[in-house]
Amino acid sequence: MAIYKDASYLQQSSSEAFDQDYGPGAAAPHAGIYQCMGCHREIGIAAGNVLPTLGHHAHTTSQGSIRWRLIVYADHKPK
Ligand SMILES: [Zn+2]
Repeated sequence: MAIYKDASYLQQSSSEAFDQDYGPGAAAPHAGIYQCMGCHREIGIAAGNVLPTLGHHAHTTSQGSIRWRLIVYADHKPK
């Protein structure tokens, strides 16, 4: 689970960007923290990079395939 200290750095969103799962090696549509829906491992990724490939980590049969989901969006725009 992603952890933070100061909630003022985060803002809740209902964007559909947080509802889509991406396969291993897919282009990450947004920078931020992604969680594997099979084992809940988290990774950080910069804009324009690809999500970790199939060999990144192993799953048990019950965990199913690796599916990455955006859980925290990193806003690269200056304020
Ligand atoms: Zn996993």
